[in-house]
Amino acid sequence: LAKEYGRNQYQEYSAEYGELADRRVQLEQGLRKAFERSELELYYQPKLDIFSNQITGMESLLRWNDEVLGSVSPAEFIPIAEETGLIIPIGKWVLEEACRQSKEWHKNGYSSIHVCVNISSKQFLQDDFVSMVEQILEETGLCPKFLNLEITEGIALYNVHDAVNKLEKLKQIGVSISLDDFGTGYSSLSYIKSLPIDFLKIDRSFIKDIILNYQDAAIIDSIISLAHSLGLKVVAEGVEAHQQLTALEQMGCDEIQGFYFAKPMANHDFAKFLGKKNKPSQSMNSGTPSGA
Ligand code: C2E
Ligand code: MG
Ligand code: MG
Ligand code: MG
Repeated sequence: LAKEYGRNQYQEYSAEYGELADRRVQLEQGLRKAFERSELELYYQPKLDIFSNQITGMESLLRWNDEVLGSVSPAEFIPIAEETGLIIPIGKWVLEEACRQSKEWHKNGYSSIHVCVNISSKQFLQDDFVSMVEQILEETGLCPKFLNLEITEGIALYNVHDAVNKLEKLKQIGVSISLDDFGTGYSSLSYIKSLPIDFLKIDRSFIKDIILNYQDAAIIDSIISLAHSLGLKVVAEGVEAHQQLTALEQMGCDEIQGFYFAKPMANHDFAKFLGKKNKPSQSMNSGTPSGA
């Protein structure tokens, strides 16, 4: 009887495992195909200055809507892209597309906004990463100061010196750096001191309970003070409610991003949003064709 039971358990387990493996294979093949057919899309979510309420920039976020699998979250497909190495060509395309699109918005008069592009650690660790960024900036004509790279602490896991070296080169070029998902990993602020970064992005999971949880609020408050003392600006992501905004304002947070203001949008919707929010400064480029 025990043997029989054991076998059933095993069969159930392997059936479930089989399903997982199937999905994994489907995703990998689907992603490859979607990329080859140029079906991946970039959405943009605005980032605002907490005091002036002006858009300072936007984060580009990958979207994949597959005809068979439906809409697949980057939280699910990015790890697969990383494991398979697909993240290298995809990540390059993301950077090109985000820079190209930003340059276009600049031409239309929105010349003060920067674009934040998520960079996978695997991508950052490539030997030619810095020269690739340089080349894309040159090709698209986007001024380097309008490019912000969002990295995670994973980039310095294997070789801190190499990471610092690359970050310093990027800063010399004029590109700014954000440390994304802050609070979810192991990074302490003393570790951050060794990385030449400009912005700290506090992870959504901390912002979520800022109103309800006194400890989360205290943690954010001290992260903000310490970040400021290290000369960093702080961005809170995942702001969904007015109360969260008020609390962050009181703590001196610099910028916010979240559904409270806007969800990530397709490029034409983002262009409309820009039109309503930030009026381009007049006659800055009178010779440029108007309209998005
Ligand atoms: P992330 O870089 O931390 O991006 C923020 C995520 O929070 C995005 O999820 C965004 O849609 C979501 N978000 C923003 N505001 C709110 C809010 O108020 N409430 C809630 N519930 N969510 C909010 P998304 O687009 O699903 O992306 C998930 C993750 O996938 C990103 O986290 C990033 O790590 C990765 N990712 C997305 N696009 C790219 C990309 O082009 N390259 C790489 N390497 N990773 C990417
Ligand atoms: Mg990000
Ligand atoms: Mg983030
Ligand atoms: Mg996050």
